[in-house]
Amino acid sequence: MRPMGCLFCKIVAREIPSQIVFENDHVLSFKDINPQAPTHALVIPKRHLTGIFDATDADADRQMLGELLTAGRQVAAQLGLDAKGYRLVINQGQDGGQSVHHLHLHVMGGRPMGWPPG
Ligand code: AMP
Ligand code: ZN
Repeated sequence: MRPMGCLFCKIVAREIPSQIVFENDHVLSFKDINPQAPTHALVIPKRHLTGIFDATDADADRQMLGELLTAGRQVAAQLGLDAKGYRLVINQGQDGGQSVHHLHLHVMGGRPMGWPPG
């Protein structure tokens, strides 16, 4: 169910503008508004889940997670990140540093990433 006021649901509904880079029936990808790397896009399921915590072992959720990762690698390729590599990140909850409570995969590249992440 779509909660009132969810920012990313509004982006899916085109009620808030975004720089869309990829879309299919299951996911939408758009540029992060506050990029933390030279290339930084997000991939989100069109169906609202608050985070990866919300994904169950039901077939529909397993498929959705597959779509999310598959789109992540497609977006990385489309944005020219394959040659030098990239990072895919999901932040979950308070300690994960999640600030938008609609599941999203960060696709980041264009600079070497540190490890461990902060
Ligand atoms: P997280 O901290 O993992 O929840 O990531 C949320 C991300 O959403 C951050 O990197 C924000 O910069 C990004 N973000 C917030 N609002 C928007 C927006 N309107 N369009 C694109 N990205 C956004
Ligand atoms: Zn949402």
